[in-house]
Amino acid sequence: MNYNIPFIKPSFPGSGILMNDYADITRNNWYTNYGPFEREFSNKLENFLDNGAKIITFSNATLALMACINELIGHGDGSQYIIMPSFTFVAGAQAILWCGYKPYFIDINEETLQMNIDAAKSIVGKGAGIKGVLFCNAFGVGDSNIEDWEDFAESLSIPLIIDSAAGFGSKYIDGEYLGARGDCEVFSFHATKPFAVGEGGAVSSRNKQLIDKLKTIQNFGFNNSRDSQALGFNAKMQEFNAAIGIRQLERFKGRLQQRQSVLKKYKAGLKSLTFQQNAEISSVCFASAIVPKSVNRNKLVEELNSIGIQIREYYNPPIHKQVYFMRNKHLSKSQRLNITNDISEKIISLPVHDDMNSAHIDAIIDEILSRL
Ligand SMILES: *Cc1c(COP(=O)(O)O)cnc(C)c1O
Repeated sequence: MNYNIPFIKPSFPGSGILMNDYADITRNNWYTNYGPFEREFSNKLENFLDNGAKIITFSNATLALMACINELIGHGDGSQYIIMPSFTFVAGAQAILWCGYKPYFIDINEETLQMNIDAAKSIVGKGAGIKGVLFCNAFGVGDSNIEDWEDFAESLSIPLIIDSAAGFGSKYIDGEYLGARGDCEVFSFHATKPFAVGEGGAVSSRNKQLIDKLKTIQNFGFNNSRDSQALGFNAKMQEFNAAIGIRQLERFKGRLQQRQSVLKKYKAGLKSLTFQQNAEISSVCFASAIVPKSVNRNKLVEELNSIGIQIREYYNPPIHKQVYFMRNKHLSKSQRLNITNDISEKIISLPVHDDMNSAHIDAIIDEILSRL
């Protein structure tokens, strides 16, 4: 059998809807710099989350991470560290380097795939030079130990920035949407994320002053005047992207349910795989599962791709094994990363779409089962 099932299938508003928004934007003659669509979008994002956090939109999550590091930790001289997992997307490590720090890679927990707090505790202390934590909610799934990370950061008096890139719409186990923990949380609205506008992102935080300062950074250091008051850059969201975001939000709750039901079907059909904990209350960017030891992961992925079922392996390679970091070992530090290395060899990422055809889900399950 041959299929044509893409790994990710973004669903964007139709051209008929967007044509009206486009007409409004051109009539307003206002394309960026906090126009009416951007203002409406950030208000609606705050209302959606309803967790006490304020929101500021960004042109993408990577620049948002840089703005947060720069504001909360300051600009480094290249000698000090920010703790983060190697088992994540490379953007966080790059943001750390651009801000003048080095990533210190910490191992993860096998069940949750989240950064391991005991591993972090084992490396802090005198002379470790650790200036902050970039926690990553793995695959946009809220960590059930987020409070422990808040206590950890507080006990060391260092900031806790949370990369929740794929996790807009995910909930923590207490039922609250991601976005109000740590000093701030960062979301990506990239085309490949469950909540997508193309290129875009946001920072959410209970700290309103922080949001105001990030606004200055994302707009050349300007603060209500054309007189630069801080080191800034340009990372504002365009009106077109905000218009798409407003439309996406209208249908997002239903789509979250659809995505969660796809994961449920995978879990019911693939009992010998181990799925990431708490992913069922997330936005389900895709379905992450560990294959049993007896299975040759690479062969499984290759075979499924060859019959048109697009399977990926996130995060393989983990950041510390990527070329730039291998060639420039002085730019990062790694703890022993046994679990990270092991998981990256055994993980598979299964497709999840908003409106996934249930015959496709059954086919994926059958094709995997016949190879286990
Ligand atoms: C997608 C992603 C990013 C980058 O987001 P952009 O909006 O593309 O800059 C950062 N971190 C993680 C964990 C991601 O998944």
